[in-house]
Amino acid sequence: MNLVPSLSDLLYRISPLIEKSQSTQQKKYDVIVLGVGSMGSSSCYYLAKQGLSVLGIEQFTIPHEAGSHAGQSRIIRKAYFEHPHYVPLLQAAYKNWKDLETEAGIQLYFKTGLLYFGKPESPLIKGLKLSAEKYNVPIQPVSVQEMNNRFSVFQIPNEYERMMEPDAGLVTPERAILAYTERALQLGASIHTQEKTLAWKKTGSTFIITTDKNTYQCENLVITSGAWTGKLVEEVANKLQVTRQVIGWMKPKISSRFELGKFPCWTLADSEKPGIYYGFPTLPSSTFGGVTGLKLGHHTPGISTDPDLVDRNSVKEDEANLIAMLSRFIPEGYVSTIEMKSCLYTYTPDENFVIDFVSGTDGEAVMAAGFSGHGFKFASIVGEIMADLVIKKTTDQPIAFLKADRLGKKS
Ligand SMILES: Cc1cc2nc3c(=O)[nH]c(=O)nc-3n(C[C@H](O)[C@H](O)[C@H](O)COP(=O)(O)OP(=O)(O)OC[C@H]3O[C@@H](n4cnc5c(N)ncnc54)[C@H](O)[C@@H]3O)c2cc1C
Repeated sequence: MNLVPSLSDLLYRISPLIEKSQSTQQKKYDVIVLGVGSMGSSSCYYLAKQGLSVLGIEQFTIPHEAGSHAGQSRIIRKAYFEHPHYVPLLQAAYKNWKDLETEAGIQLYFKTGLLYFGKPESPLIKGLKLSAEKYNVPIQPVSVQEMNNRFSVFQIPNEYERMMEPDAGLVTPERAILAYTERALQLGASIHTQEKTLAWKKTGSTFIITTDKNTYQCENLVITSGAWTGKLVEEVANKLQVTRQVIGWMKPKISSRFELGKFPCWTLADSEKPGIYYGFPTLPSSTFGGVTGLKLGHHTPGISTDPDLVDRNSVKEDEANLIAMLSRFIPEGYVSTIEMKSCLYTYTPDENFVIDFVSGTDGEAVMAAGFSGHGFKFASIVGEIMADLVIKKTTDQPIAFLKADRLGKKS
């Protein structure tokens, strides 16, 4: 069995299942999931696994490039510099990714190791050490000798610390979403694509969902609509800010030095710029889709946008920013630009997620949103949490810090 089927193989495998599922319709579902992307595909899977009748409604295809999950790769790591609260969720997420790999027979996680570069006082390095210490996550300093031997393409200022998290790596978002979708369909879920949810309301104990094609009823609602969540959930509409984030794929000087298996994922807090730069080894497009190139991005708010009106053309400034970064820290990484692409972040004011019941629904609608540019790695546990909240109205996972009321009343 091929454990690393290509994106196109997976699409070919899943298309007939989705097509068949489009024509199925029942009078009322136990649960409808609005948005079948990162969190929605995982939610459909976990809900169907519990024997519920599930309908997932996705406005585009599965996967697609208009939301937050496109672009071949997402970093996964445990020594979470953002806050130690996330580490137990990450431990569960790692386990669930492994379970999905086993169940679907597909490799989705690639252990590359993750390098961290930054001044000792930077939030990246301080936060990394705090989480690692609190939860015993293995991290280690990288010696000058090792930098020269294994990681000689990096030119890191002497005053920066160099740390390695060996168990970190990347997960492949499009392939993971397809794996969850396939398993959900096999477990009996229906998934309708290219169907936009226009509105939902609760009448008595029944939710009525209106799309651009149909009307459906369900007992419980899961809202995993990514950058569009503010358009569907009034209580968070003014709390979520959608930004356009631009990522680049570059042609390096000697491609073989940057390939998967030889080159790690990396993050760097440049003391002269806000946010964090990050990047990946090159992945062959024949397996992972997209283009083959050295991928990197800048984790800092891009321009605010409406998710339906994203300007994906004017990216020259972002491109120049990434090229300048490479010329300072990875000079061998740039000969020319292969491709620039835009993707969406959905920020909350404190950059922590929102996972909670939707107010006014008697605990029968739940939402997972505001992933603030760092959510994909959690998709495998978020789906399980959504199923817990629908079925048990509670979860053993530590999500109290992600409640919506911390953001204040709607303004
Ligand atoms: C450039 C970039 C780099 C990133 N890097 C990382 C990383 O390294 N590590 C990491 O963990 N995370 C990373 N992230 C963040 C991560 O990808 C997101 O947090 C995650 O994908 C969000 O998942 P989601 O389910 O909320 O959104 P999505 O995956 O976009 O899913 C939402 C879905 O809902 C659908 N939808 C919305 N409205 C409707 C409607 N009305 N009707 C029907 N369907 C609807 C959308 O079409 C979409 O498919 C990155 C994000 C970007 C953009």
